Amino acid sequence: WTGSKDEVPDEDLYIPPPQNYNLTRRANATLLMLARNSDVDSAVRSVRELEDRFNHKFGYPWTFLNEEPFSDEFKRRVRNVVSSSASFGLIPHDHWFQPDSIDETKAAAGREKMVEDNIIYGGSVSYRNMCRFNSGFFYRHPLTLNYKWYWRVEPDVHFHCDIDSDPFLYMEDNDKIYGFTITMYEYHATIPTLWDTVKQFMKDYPQYINKDNAMAYMSDNQGDSYNLCHFWSNFEIADMDFWRGEAYSKYFDYLDATGGFYYERWGDAPVHSIGVGLFARKDQIHFFDNIGYEHNPYTHCPKGSGLWERGKCACNLDRSFDYDGYSCMRQWDRIW
Ligand code: GDP
Ligand code: MN
Repeated sequence: WTGSKDEVPDEDLYIPPPQNYNLTRRANATLLMLARNSDVDSAVRSVRELEDRFNHKFGYPWTFLNEEPFSDEFKRRVRNVVSSSASFGLIPHDHWFQPDSIDETKAAAGREKMVEDNIIYGGSVSYRNMCRFNSGFFYRHPLTLNYKWYWRVEPDVHFHCDIDSDPFLYMEDNDKIYGFTITMYEYHATIPTLWDTVKQFMKDYPQYINKDNAMAYMSDNQGDSYNLCHFWSNFEIADMDFWRGEAYSKYFDYLDATGGFYYERWGDAPVHSIGVGLFARKDQIHFFDNIGYEHNPYTHCPKGSGLWERGKCACNLDRSFDYDGYSCMRQWDRIW
């Protein structure tokens, strides 16, 4: 192999020669993006930004997943901006598409109702496939199975500050499971029966509930009702072994069996947040204040002492989402 990115021996499982990163330790982690071929322009921009702000110094491998084979253009353009390696995986059919167990007449009626009510993505089946995949399948893909940690990255997001210390090692060294930058309210109309299902699960499987859980962040009345607070899952730095574990697996299967991903429009954000909020200790959830992050229309800009200067952040601190009226940072703060 001569080092040119055009001469790739095995297109989909290609690992480049080790580079001189001068690092003493690295986590077993991947940067992970789910994308369509049509997302290529914005995917490349996100990758380029995270490379510039973080990964060119750390060299973590990238993993890209898609329910359709990635185009040669997608692979070529992404590889061109990646400093380490990139793997491109096809999602198994049953991990993505609506299962036969779903009553399509009932699902279609649910979608129609949401379209009438102007719920965002209310009529979309592919969006529901995506939410279910992100809730219960990405960590079982052959390309992610060998990793413990992932950083979820979407097309069209922005990283506003230099990230000079390794967030994966921070997670590992501090016994963390789940890291977020933005927390907000979910649209109730997308999850009308989710909390009732969760409460039933808690009754059936009390052994899985962590006694130091984050219930007080998710509920204002000791679990009676859900206050709709969740971590915005388009950014996640988290431990896949937690999703693969017994508690979350039982929980996902329990939710999935109700068909709520299709009859309603359950998002992976509330599903992940409630899972980690119940089965992890609350101090295993970490707010990455130092990571400046933007996903339209919201930005988290680091507010902690000196962080904005140290990170050479390009974001406007006055516009940070943290204490916006729609943010759940107040609910997060009150549990400490
Ligand atoms: P939003 O952030 O909730 O508005 O949803 P997005 O459109 O950003 O989708 C979330 C993530 O899933 C992004 O990484 C998208 O690229 C990806 N995604 C959404 N729909 C599909 C799809 O049908 N196929 C594939 N392969 N990826 C998808
Ligand atoms: Mn998005």
